[in-house]
Amino acid sequence: MRNIRSILILFTTLLSALICTAQDSAYPANYARAPRFKALIYYSDTAEEAHVQFARQAIEFFHRLTYGEGYILDRTTSLADYPYERLKEYSIVIVVNITPAPGAERQAMEQYMEHGGGWLGFHAAAYNDNDTHWPWLNRFLGCGQFYCNNWPPQCVLLDVDNTDSPVTRNIPATFVAPESEWYQWNPSPRLNRDVEILASISPKNYPLGIKDIINSGDFPVVWRNKKYRMVYLNYGHGDREFTDATQNLLTLNAFRYIVSLDPTGNPFEK
Ligand code: ZN
Repeated sequence: MRNIRSILILFTTLLSALICTAQDSAYPANYARAPRFKALIYYSDTAEEAHVQFARQAIEFFHRLTYGEGYILDRTTSLADYPYERLKEYSIVIVVNITPAPGAERQAMEQYMEHGGGWLGFHAAAYNDNDTHWPWLNRFLGCGQFYCNNWPPQCVLLDVDNTDSPVTRNIPATFVAPESEWYQWNPSPRLNRDVEILASISPKNYPLGIKDIINSGDFPVVWRNKKYRMVYLNYGHGDREFTDATQNLLTLNAFRYIVSLDPTGNPFEK
């Protein structure tokens, strides 16, 4: 009797092991075992507090995506160890509230982008003024310098400019974005024919701000320069940015769109 029970226990154990193995191999999360591409998140941990808060949440957001999207996410606060030869291994660089240091770091980023690299930039990734001295960044972004911002951070009504783009196709034509510090640029990227504007702050928001008030002006906040594999997202300030499902979807769409255009083939179809 005891022998029969032992055999039964052994049989049950073997059976459940077999079932688990079958389930494991069929489970999509196992893409994580065979990553289809690499992403690098490049962020600042020494910027103003609200920019670092956003960066930490962005790391968490993109890290969680690695399970479903099947990719490796590396992170760095400096491009000093990322010459072009190393950068080019990445299908996308997610740039969060930082710009590369003058010299070798900027050259590596330029070379990477000029040779088909992928760039998803948030908020201060595009910040530049008279002291930045990086004309390539302006050509790359397709806009002028930072012009002004609202203060304090606020929710805004966004208008989707192009409802046909893979970045915005499943996004409502208008929606309220979580509170952020919004940057306006002069001249506006809309004046650049290489730029496709994807979303803008609605004029209905004017006057925007309390301490620093913006009363007028063209106000694109999501766009891409068609000459590059890039999307710029103007939001990225504080710890409320990932609280809205619509904006999260916009972020995910932009990420997937850039990666899908990888010159070596769409990793999501591998
Ligand atoms: Zn900010």
